[in-house]
Amino acid sequence: MTENQHGGSLFQQAFDEVAADVKPVLDGNESYRRWRILDRLSEPDRVLGFTVRWTNDKGEVEQNRAWRVQYCNALGPYKGGLRFHPSVNEDTLRFLGFEQCFKNALTGLPMGGGKGGSDFNPKGRSEHEIMRFCHAFMDEYHRYGGEDIDVPAGDIGVGGREVGFLFGRWLRLTSRHTATLTGRSLEQFGIKGRTEATGYGTVEFARLMLDTKDETLEGKRVLISGAGNVAQYAAERSIELGAQVLTLSNSEGTAHFPEGLTQSMLETIQDARNQGRRLKDIAGDLDGMKFEASSKPWGTACDVALPCATQNELDGDEAKTLLDNGCTAIAEGANMPSTTEAVHLFREKKVLYGPGKAANAGGVAVSGLEMAQAAQRIPWTREQTIDKLYDIMRTIHDQCAEHGGSGDAIDYVKGANIAGFRRVADSLITGGVG
Ligand code: GLU
Repeated sequence: MTENQHGGSLFQQAFDEVAADVKPVLDGNESYRRWRILDRLSEPDRVLGFTVRWTNDKGEVEQNRAWRVQYCNALGPYKGGLRFHPSVNEDTLRFLGFEQCFKNALTGLPMGGGKGGSDFNPKGRSEHEIMRFCHAFMDEYHRYGGEDIDVPAGDIGVGGREVGFLFGRWLRLTSRHTATLTGRSLEQFGIKGRTEATGYGTVEFARLMLDTKDETLEGKRVLISGAGNVAQYAAERSIELGAQVLTLSNSEGTAHFPEGLTQSMLETIQDARNQGRRLKDIAGDLDGMKFEASSKPWGTACDVALPCATQNELDGDEAKTLLDNGCTAIAEGANMPSTTEAVHLFREKKVLYGPGKAANAGGVAVSGLEMAQAAQRIPWTREQTIDKLYDIMRTIHDQCAEHGGSGDAIDYVKGANIAGFRRVADSLITGGVG
């Protein structure tokens, strides 16, 4: 079991938060209680577990555990990414699958919730090893997926390259060129704009929250954690909107940009990372970048924080430091990056706080558009996709505002939980039980 800060399960942490917020909705809705909706959502439809056997570059046989959690398909095919990381286990994927159900519901697109992955660690592996692992993964997984059944995409450790290998194997196994995976490259008829969608969507959510206070991102000091896909594009969009990005980070420490990260510095970092270089090694080559080992970004004074790394990366003490230093808005690019204590503090202090299931829904939303594009067999332009992404982020924001109280303080957590839950619940009721 992956432990959260209290040694409990991640799934339980995510479930308890939703359960507490929807309690008044259940109390006021006999039908939700009679159909036992919350109990039903405490278990996924199914958890598929399999073993991936593959050979490394030395010709040795290796073996990893893998799972696909098909959580709930009331609203559409199971949809959610694949994570390849040594911390992955069934509990991690149950938590992520559960969150995904409500996140996907908020997008308004026909997508159920699911998540999958493996404890395979891609770090230090050659491209050939990653390819063989992806092919071996698909050899097992392909019997459970399909464009109307279950549609994975990327997540931590799974980017465009891995989706490419997975889809390549899918094609050889099935000969069906359909949207059985999203986040595909343009060469595989992916959609323009998917790569940047999660990061751009998170910044858009922050922008919409600030707008309720008649504020903008222009001139705001922004802390970003992570240095992967979400963090990079959150940084790009923040810079575009005139914000001063002060940090990126990884598990080894924090990269500081005291004068602000520029677009050209970001491109240098992206190129270096694509060549497999670590943040700490890049710092030596780049003026205006300092690397602080074994630290997190949250001690730096800022106006806005965008946690874009991983679950429970921001604890109660760090949340307090952020607020003491003047931070007034937090939008989560990662899934459940704030611990229960941190969330409690943000809500208690009534700062602008966009939880992951609302603020990082842009990625899966554009995956939904990629599914539409594949079904239409007509490519969308990047502009069409980004416009639609921003429309969807606004819809999500407004649903949170509708269900999270208005006035001077919108509780975005409550709003997201209630709005997402109601959509899934109403659909489950319509389908009945055998
Ligand atoms: N892994 C992303 C998420 O957490 C994207 C999922 C998808 O595109 O299906 O939402």
